[in-house]
Amino acid sequence: MLPDPLPTLQRVFGFPDFRGVQRQVVERVLGGQRTLAVMPTGAGKSLTYQLPAVMLHGTCVVVSPLIALMHDQLRAAEAVGIRAATLTSVDANQAETRSRLRGGELDLLYVAPERASGQSFRELLSQADLALFAIDEAHCVSEWGHDFRPDYRLLKPLMDSFPDVSRLALTATADAHTRADILAQLGIPADGLIVSGFDRPNIRYHVTPKTSTPRQVADIIRRTPGPGIVYVQSRAGTEKMAASLASTGRPVRAYHAGLDPAIRAKNQADFVASEDMVICATVAFGMGIDKPDVRFVVHAGLPKSIEAYYQETGRAGRDGDPSVAHLFWGAEDFVRARQRIDEVEPERRAGEAARLQSLSALVETGGCRRQVLLRHFGEDAPADCGNCDNCLGASGAVDATELARKFLSA
Ligand code: ADP
Ligand code: MG
Repeated sequence: MLPDPLPTLQRVFGFPDFRGVQRQVVERVLGGQRTLAVMPTGAGKSLTYQLPAVMLHGTCVVVSPLIALMHDQLRAAEAVGIRAATLTSVDANQAETRSRLRGGELDLLYVAPERASGQSFRELLSQADLALFAIDEAHCVSEWGHDFRPDYRLLKPLMDSFPDVSRLALTATADAHTRADILAQLGIPADGLIVSGFDRPNIRYHVTPKTSTPRQVADIIRRTPGPGIVYVQSRAGTEKMAASLASTGRPVRAYHAGLDPAIRAKNQADFVASEDMVICATVAFGMGIDKPDVRFVVHAGLPKSIEAYYQETGRAGRDGDPSVAHLFWGAEDFVRARQRIDEVEPERRAGEAARLQSLSALVETGGCRRQVLLRHFGEDAPADCGNCDNCLGASGAVDATELARKFLSA
């Protein structure tokens, strides 16, 4: 009989109960069954390895692709008393972390895939007592995923050399093809797949052809109170957009990786604290930010994929209150996307083309947007959600979709 994880959830994490499929995932992990959990952003994926890491004897090795995210996770884990460390190039205490690992003093060890795939790391692990491998953002292992990281391919050989240590792969964003690939690439059986609900019923989806984007975005901001994010494709674009939105009278900031780090951190912190700020950002903004009351997310151009769109719009309305997602697109976005596909390595072209095709289906549909989204993630959905532009009868995108169709079939 496995121990009940609920008392530990309540005592260590202070949550009254599990959410969604968390319990199912945790129980599989505690039982040593290899698992791939596909859960939307904000569903609480971290808990599904952090809790077993506390309960199981030995260390849980967490592979995570972003150092900044790892350090956020580390702080959160330490805050609830979990013995955790990161092993990254920016950590000054690497020797200490290694000796804590060998001494069995760590519940969680966060590493980047580049580090995890190296020979010296394998040797280090062989001197430790391991409980679990947790592979976060597992779609990075797949060329079909939208964010392929070649080092993820080396994780299976690493894990294979510790055959008794269980595996948990986690992702928010994987279509059926990518899921099958993740299972194969990480050595997880097909019956180890757990998918949780993707619907975000409180988010209203709107998709509109571009006419004058800054004016269209300003209109939305005037109509929509509360904090919001405007995603813009280029760094320069975020600053231009921020400047042009100043006329709305709302506090507006820009955010992109090229800003001075201090300014970037301040803009982010001010946004998180604000009740009415608009942040114009590249897609670098939002990962790991836990702001429940974002009321709107605007895409001022075509997102990279449906997965990216779902993830980015999913930053709205985490508190469950009504929120909106507006996507503005032009035929030229599709033309540019096509050109980019021609530039990628030949073996990735089919995947990229399929991704663009899915995105165009979302943009072009005269039917329910939510249905297109949920079907994409393998979920059944009614034909009429009653909470998207088409279901509400607010479409009118006909001319521009015709234009896009011409470009797509060219
Ligand atoms: P994901 O990685 O799936 O996007 P996170 O692991 O970052 O999500 O968790 C998102 C938020 O949900 C965090 O603030 C976390 O503390 C919270 N959370 C996780 N599990 C629960 C739970 N069972 N009850 C309440 N809040 C939870
Ligand atoms: Mg996460």
